[in-house]
Amino acid sequence: MELKIAGHVVRVPLMPNLAVLDSDRPAVGVVAPDPDRGFPDGADAAAGPGFTYHHFWDSGTRLTLTGERAGEYRVRLAPDVHAWVASDRVRVLPPGTPPARGRVGTVRLTPRAEAVDVRIEVDRRLPYRVDPRGRALDITIYGGTADTRWLMSGGLDRHVVGARWSQPADGRWVLTLDLAQPHWGHAARWDPNGDLVVRVRRPPPVDRRRPLRGLVVAVDAGHPPGGAVGPTGLGEAEVNLAVARRLARLLERADAQVILTRTDDRALDLHERARIAEAAGAHLFVSLHQNAFPDGVDPFVESGTSTFYFHPHSQALARAFQAELLHELRLRDLGVGRTSLAVLRPLTWMPAALTETMYMMVPQQEAALRDPEVQERIARAHLRALERFLRQRAAGRDAP
Ligand SMILES: [Zn+2]
Repeated sequence: MELKIAGHVVRVPLMPNLAVLDSDRPAVGVVAPDPDRGFPDGADAAAGPGFTYHHFWDSGTRLTLTGERAGEYRVRLAPDVHAWVASDRVRVLPPGTPPARGRVGTVRLTPRAEAVDVRIEVDRRLPYRVDPRGRALDITIYGGTADTRWLMSGGLDRHVVGARWSQPADGRWVLTLDLAQPHWGHAARWDPNGDLVVRVRRPPPVDRRRPLRGLVVAVDAGHPPGGAVGPTGLGEAEVNLAVARRLARLLERADAQVILTRTDDRALDLHERARIAEAAGAHLFVSLHQNAFPDGVDPFVESGTSTFYFHPHSQALARAFQAELLHELRLRDLGVGRTSLAVLRPLTWMPAALTETMYMMVPQQEAALRDPEVQERIARAHLRALERFLRQRAAGRDAP
């Protein structure tokens, strides 16, 4: 494929079909708005071409484009860090546009009731990442060059107990925050004045005897659209909603406030499910699913229970679901996996997990999923998992 953007193209045999742009004068692009998506508005990107998503860039983010292959641009984040994004999500800017680099100036930490706002002065929208690491949070701005000084209001905070910036490499500016407790959640956005604002959420207060009291829990009944179908025609979406309703009743009895992302059988987009949870201020999110198999896999050999998460601060919650589901149902342990699922990717504001309790395609499991008593047991296991996770956090423990 010949690449004609910006008018300067050379071909170098680095990768089959890779068109490489002039590295001395790389093209500059900007992430285009996505009116169909809305939450969050931006583009997913991967560490390799066609790989699972690893980055998210808000619309309006400037990108340095160094190659194109099979409908994706290669983006240079730092001299040794690249990412790939669908080329139809990027608008190429005219030649002569300043490169995707910028000055990172003042950083301000402002304690608020629910979160600590970290406001970072950047002179244009650059790609960034927020990476939780246990009791620390790294905010990386690619293409950022330090001209940083501090202005902290209110002194040290009881949750964000330390903060320092560094420039570990050319084009990589990093702010590291030390947290008093394991990370609960964050939300990042570009302020209209141009600053990057990362809200670091305070862990909610937890009463160890009634750990769910006062918390908002988002319960997402997976599908439609789509969903597995059992051998006699039972639909996954129907089972998931039945379990979600039972879980909602149990949570309300435990004094939690429940948000069901859907209450009928109308199709609901994955990003919309995440948006509902965030807009409701949910402290916890769980998406309920039952599994299916690709063709050619023997369901009698491979079936079991699995749980997924994406952002690292959700791992302990996923482990709690897996442990309680295994304890309750005694199915095979297929493990806890980190995977890039569309419903979990946007959820940074709270711990979030997706459970695959049973396999719709196994006749005995399909029959069990139809049984109201089994549905209630699945719901109870989810309730106990949420309580287990909250008690761990209340005890100051990072993992089960
Ligand atoms: Zn499903």
